[in-house]
Amino acid sequence: MLLVMLGPPGSGKGTQASRLAEKLDLHHLSTGDMLRSAVKNETELGKKAKEYMEKGDLVPDSLILDMIRETIKNDQGSGFIFDGFPRTIPQAEGLDKMLQSEGEELDGALNLDVSDQEVIKRLSGRYFCPQCQRTYNYPSNLPEQEGFCDECGVELQKRKDDTEEVVKNRLEVYKKQTQPLIDYYKDKSILVNVDGERDIGVIFNDLVTITQSL
Ligand code: AMP
Repeated sequence: MLLVMLGPPGSGKGTQASRLAEKLDLHHLSTGDMLRSAVKNETELGKKAKEYMEKGDLVPDSLILDMIRETIKNDQGSGFIFDGFPRTIPQAEGLDKMLQSEGEELDGALNLDVSDQEVIKRLSGRYFCPQCQRTYNYPSNLPEQEGFCDECGVELQKRKDDTEEVVKNRLEVYKKQTQPLIDYYKDKSILVNVDGERDIGVIFNDLVTITQSL
Protein backbone atom coordinates (compact mmCIF):
# COMPACT_ATOMS: atom_id res chain seq x y z
CA MET A 1 0.00 0.00 0.00
CA LEU A 2 1.21 3.51 -0.84
CA LEU A 3 -0.23 6.41 1.11
CA VAL A 4 0.41 10.14 1.35
CA MET A 5 -0.39 12.04 4.54
CA LEU A 6 -1.39 15.66 3.90
CA GLY A 7 -2.14 18.53 6.27
CA PRO A 8 -0.68 21.76 7.61
CA PRO A 9 2.28 21.77 10.03
CA GLY A 10 1.05 20.59 13.43
CA SER A 11 -1.96 18.75 12.02
CA GLY A 12 -0.80 15.45 13.54
CA LYS A 13 0.59 13.95 10.30
CA GLY A 14 3.66 12.53 12.00
CA THR A 15 1.80 10.99 14.94
CA GLN A 16 -0.87 9.41 12.76
CA ALA A 17 1.55 8.28 10.04
CA SER A 18 3.74 6.58 12.61
CA ARG A 19 0.76 4.74 14.18
CA LEU A 20 -0.68 3.76 10.80
CA ALA A 21 2.69 2.48 9.61
CA GLU A 22 2.87 0.20 12.62
CA LYS A 23 -0.71 -1.01 12.21
CA LEU A 24 -0.47 -1.62 8.45
CA ASP A 25 3.17 -2.74 8.43
CA LEU A 26 4.28 0.11 6.16
CA HIS A 27 7.51 2.12 6.13
CA HIS A 28 6.94 5.57 7.64
CA LEU A 29 8.90 7.98 5.51
CA SER A 30 9.04 11.48 7.02
CA THR A 31 11.07 13.92 4.92
CA GLY A 32 11.21 16.32 7.88
CA ASP A 33 12.79 13.63 10.11
CA MET A 34 15.21 12.62 7.34
CA LEU A 35 16.27 16.22 6.79
CA ARG A 36 16.68 16.93 10.52
CA SER A 37 18.91 13.88 10.77
CA ALA A 38 20.93 15.04 7.72
CA VAL A 39 21.40 18.47 9.35
CA LYS A 40 22.44 16.90 12.66
CA ASN A 41 24.96 14.62 10.92
CA GLU A 42 26.24 17.51 8.78
CA THR A 43 25.87 15.57 5.52
CA GLU A 44 26.08 17.37 2.15
CA LEU A 45 22.27 17.34 1.98
CA GLY A 46 22.04 18.60 5.57
CA LYS A 47 24.37 21.52 4.84
CA LYS A 48 22.24 22.53 1.84
CA ALA A 49 18.90 22.08 3.66
CA LYS A 50 19.71 23.77 6.99
CA GLU A 51 19.12 27.39 6.01
CA TYR A 52 15.75 26.70 4.35
CA MET A 53 14.55 24.69 7.34
CA GLU A 54 15.54 27.29 9.91
CA LYS A 55 13.44 29.90 8.07
CA GLY A 56 10.51 27.54 7.56
CA ASP A 57 10.98 27.61 3.77
CA LEU A 58 10.87 24.51 1.62
CA VAL A 59 14.05 22.69 0.65
CA PRO A 60 14.39 22.66 -3.20
CA ASP A 61 12.34 19.98 -4.99
CA SER A 62 15.35 18.41 -6.72
CA LEU A 63 17.08 17.67 -3.37
CA ILE A 64 13.89 16.18 -1.93
CA LEU A 65 13.16 14.04 -4.99
CA ASP A 66 16.74 12.68 -5.04
CA MET A 67 16.45 11.81 -1.33
CA ILE A 68 13.12 9.99 -1.89
CA ARG A 69 14.41 8.15 -4.97
CA GLU A 70 17.40 6.87 -3.00
CA THR A 71 15.20 5.74 -0.13
CA ILE A 72 12.49 3.89 -2.03
CA LYS A 73 14.66 2.25 -4.68
CA ASN A 74 15.19 -1.48 -4.15
CA ASP A 75 12.62 -1.54 -1.38
CA GLN A 76 10.64 -4.76 -1.45
CA GLY A 77 8.56 -4.02 1.68
CA SER A 78 4.80 -3.90 1.97
CA GLY A 79 4.62 -0.20 1.13
CA PHE A 80 5.12 3.35 2.32
CA ILE A 81 3.32 6.09 4.11
CA PHE A 82 4.80 9.42 3.04
CA ASP A 83 4.64 12.10 5.73
CA GLY A 84 5.49 15.70 4.85
CA PHE A 85 6.05 14.70 1.26
CA PRO A 86 5.07 15.74 -1.35
CA ARG A 87 4.97 19.43 -0.39
CA THR A 88 4.70 20.93 -3.92
CA ILE A 89 3.04 20.01 -7.22
CA PRO A 90 6.44 19.22 -8.86
CA GLN A 91 7.21 16.85 -5.96
CA ALA A 92 3.82 15.14 -6.42
CA GLU A 93 4.44 14.81 -10.16
CA GLY A 94 7.95 13.50 -9.48
CA LEU A 95 6.59 10.89 -7.06
CA ASP A 96 3.93 9.78 -9.56
CA LYS A 97 6.61 9.32 -12.22
CA MET A 98 8.88 7.34 -9.86
CA LEU A 99 6.00 5.05 -8.92
CA GLN A 100 4.79 4.68 -12.51
CA SER A 101 8.21 3.49 -13.59
CA GLU A 102 7.80 0.64 -11.08
CA GLY A 103 4.24 -0.08 -12.24
CA GLU A 104 2.87 1.33 -8.97
CA GLU A 105 0.54 4.17 -7.99
CA LEU A 106 -0.66 5.86 -4.80
CA ASP A 107 -3.65 4.23 -3.11
CA GLY A 108 -4.74 7.24 -1.10
CA ALA A 109 -3.98 10.79 0.05
CA LEU A 110 -5.21 11.33 3.61
CA ASN A 111 -5.74 14.99 4.41
CA LEU A 112 -5.91 16.08 8.05
CA ASP A 113 -8.07 19.20 8.27
CA VAL A 114 -6.96 21.57 11.06
CA SER A 115 -7.62 25.34 11.40
CA ASP A 116 -4.82 27.96 11.52
CA GLN A 117 -5.74 28.82 15.10
CA GLU A 118 -5.40 25.21 16.21
CA VAL A 119 -2.07 24.82 14.32
CA ILE A 120 -0.56 27.82 16.14
CA LYS A 121 -1.81 26.56 19.50
CA ARG A 122 -0.44 23.05 18.92
CA LEU A 123 2.98 24.07 17.62
CA SER A 124 3.60 26.39 20.55
CA GLY A 125 3.04 23.40 22.90
CA ARG A 126 4.91 20.82 20.81
CA TYR A 127 7.96 18.93 22.10
CA PHE A 128 9.83 16.04 20.49
CA CYS A 129 12.22 13.26 21.47
CA PRO A 130 15.59 13.85 19.74
CA GLN A 131 16.20 10.09 19.78
CA CYS A 132 13.01 8.42 18.45
CA GLN A 133 11.37 11.61 17.02
CA ARG A 134 8.09 10.94 18.88
CA THR A 135 6.16 14.14 19.52
CA TYR A 136 4.23 15.25 22.58
CA ASN A 137 2.00 18.19 23.25
CA TYR A 138 1.36 20.31 26.29
CA PRO A 139 -1.37 20.02 27.49
CA SER A 140 -3.15 17.61 25.11
CA ASN A 141 -0.67 14.74 24.69
CA LEU A 142 1.63 14.58 27.71
CA PRO A 143 4.44 12.10 28.39
CA GLU A 144 4.11 9.97 31.55
CA GLN A 145 7.05 11.75 33.19
CA GLU A 146 6.97 15.46 32.46
CA GLY A 147 9.75 16.51 30.07
CA PHE A 148 10.94 12.99 29.16
CA CYS A 149 10.15 10.57 26.33
CA ASP A 150 7.99 7.55 27.28
CA GLU A 151 9.92 5.32 24.86
CA CYS A 152 13.54 6.41 25.39
CA GLY A 153 13.57 8.33 28.68
CA VAL A 154 15.48 11.07 26.82
CA GLU A 155 14.80 14.73 27.65
CA LEU A 156 12.28 16.29 25.27
CA GLN A 157 13.21 19.31 23.16
CA LYS A 158 11.44 22.04 21.21
CA ARG A 159 12.01 22.17 17.47
CA LYS A 160 13.94 25.25 16.33
CA ASP A 161 11.30 25.95 13.69
CA ASP A 162 8.39 25.91 16.19
CA THR A 163 9.00 29.56 17.15
CA GLU A 164 6.16 32.03 16.51
CA GLU A 165 7.83 33.80 13.57
CA VAL A 166 8.89 30.61 11.77
CA VAL A 167 5.49 28.98 12.36
CA LYS A 168 3.83 31.98 10.67
CA ASN A 169 6.06 31.52 7.61
CA ARG A 170 5.54 27.74 7.56
CA LEU A 171 1.77 28.29 7.48
CA GLU A 172 2.10 30.77 4.60
CA VAL A 173 4.39 28.39 2.72
CA TYR A 174 1.89 25.58 3.33
CA LYS A 175 -0.98 27.62 1.88
CA LYS A 176 0.92 28.76 -1.19
CA GLN A 177 2.87 25.63 -2.08
CA THR A 178 1.33 22.60 -0.40
CA GLN A 179 -2.43 23.23 -0.18
CA PRO A 180 -2.79 22.97 -4.01
CA LEU A 181 -2.01 19.26 -3.57
CA ILE A 182 -5.50 18.80 -2.12
CA ASP A 183 -6.99 19.55 -5.55
CA TYR A 184 -4.22 17.59 -7.29
CA TYR A 185 -5.22 14.41 -5.43
CA LYS A 186 -8.95 15.24 -5.57
CA ASP A 187 -8.65 15.27 -9.39
CA LYS A 188 -7.07 11.82 -9.19
CA SER A 189 -9.99 10.66 -7.00
CA ILE A 190 -7.71 9.46 -4.18
CA LEU A 191 -8.22 12.30 -1.68
CA VAL A 192 -9.85 11.55 1.68
CA ASN A 193 -10.51 14.47 4.07
CA VAL A 194 -10.41 13.77 7.79
CA ASP A 195 -11.34 16.15 10.60
CA GLY A 196 -7.99 16.50 12.40
CA GLU A 197 -9.30 18.45 15.40
CA ARG A 198 -10.67 15.43 17.25
CA ASP A 199 -9.06 13.09 19.77
CA ILE A 200 -5.88 11.37 18.43
CA GLY A 201 -7.35 7.88 18.95
CA VAL A 202 -10.65 8.75 17.24
CA ILE A 203 -8.78 10.13 14.20
CA PHE A 204 -6.58 7.05 14.10
CA ASN A 205 -9.60 4.69 14.12
CA ASP A 206 -11.09 6.70 11.25
CA LEU A 207 -7.86 6.44 9.27
CA VAL A 208 -7.66 2.68 9.79
CA THR A 209 -11.25 2.27 8.55
CA ILE A 210 -10.51 4.47 5.54
CA THR A 211 -7.38 2.54 4.56
CA GLN A 212 -9.30 -0.75 4.77
CA SER A 213 -11.60 0.47 2.00
CA LEU A 214 -8.88 1.75 -0.35
P1 AMP B 1 8.29 18.89 8.84
O1 AMP B 1 8.95 18.13 9.92
O2 AMP B 1 7.56 18.03 7.86
O3 AMP B 1 7.44 20.03 9.36
O4 AMP B 1 9.48 19.57 7.99
C1 AMP B 1 10.39 20.48 8.59
C2 AMP B 1 11.06 21.31 7.50
O5 AMP B 1 11.80 20.44 6.63
C3 AMP B 1 10.12 22.07 6.59
O6 AMP B 1 9.73 23.32 7.14
C4 AMP B 1 10.97 22.22 5.34
O7 AMP B 1 11.96 23.22 5.51
C5 AMP B 1 11.70 20.89 5.28
N1 AMP B 1 10.92 19.87 4.52
C6 AMP B 1 10.37 18.72 5.00
N2 AMP B 1 9.79 18.02 4.03
C7 AMP B 1 9.95 18.74 2.89
C8 AMP B 1 9.55 18.55 1.54
N3 AMP B 1 8.85 17.48 1.16
N4 AMP B 1 9.91 19.51 0.64
C9 AMP B 1 10.64 20.58 1.01
N5 AMP B 1 11.02 20.84 2.26
C10 AMP B 1 10.69 19.92 3.21
